[in-house]
Amino acid sequence: MELRSASVSPEVAEELCATAAGFHARGWMLGTSGNLSAVQEREPLRLAVSASGVDKGRLSPDQILCVDAAGSVLGPAGRASDETGVHLSVIRATGAGAVLHTHSVWNNLAAEGRAGGAVWLEGHEMLKGLSGVRSHEHRERIPVLANTQDYAALSQAVEQLLRETPGLHALLLHRHGLYTWGEDLAAARRHVEILEFLFEFTCRLATAGAS
Ligand SMILES: [Zn+2]
Repeated sequence: MELRSASVSPEVAEELCATAAGFHARGWMLGTSGNLSAVQEREPLRLAVSASGVDKGRLSPDQILCVDAAGSVLGPAGRASDETGVHLSVIRATGAGAVLHTHSVWNNLAAEGRAGGAVWLEGHEMLKGLSGVRSHEHRERIPVLANTQDYAALSQAVEQLLRETPGLHALLLHRHGLYTWGEDLAAARRHVEILEFLFEFTCRLATAGAS
């Protein structure tokens, strides 16, 4: 019988908790919103992911669970985030080492009214913080998907979208939040910071232009 490593590495758990606390402090993971994951092992897949319904301002290492490629919890006992399937889709389609999901006012505003469309970001020096981007002249397209409580269907749609559109750094769920990822947790965290900056800039600029 296959020997299963069912535990989360203490270092990974600590890093995910520190990331959640930092994002909570910036208003990107308020209450129980948002979730985080990091790949611990590829073969077989062992993913460390935040538990469902836990306060992200006080996330503790025992609330980080280890799940397999099907999203089944291997340990410690608990229920993984409802959106674990989306994390697994991103990892399968992109090979990412970490996936982060934030609910912020700015990412919600940026996506407002764009379900089925996209948010475009261009001309910013900050874009160079996205993996593989070398110039501020880059145009970053972030698709916006309609929100749903059917997470199985959402996971499938996300995987299909990412397979059909290689090179994306992120996607938005309408009136819900941002998903971004990276080769490791540091890269995924950087992507959240870059994108949240750009969403805030874009929305503040639009407001300034309207007044
Ligand atoms: Zn969410």
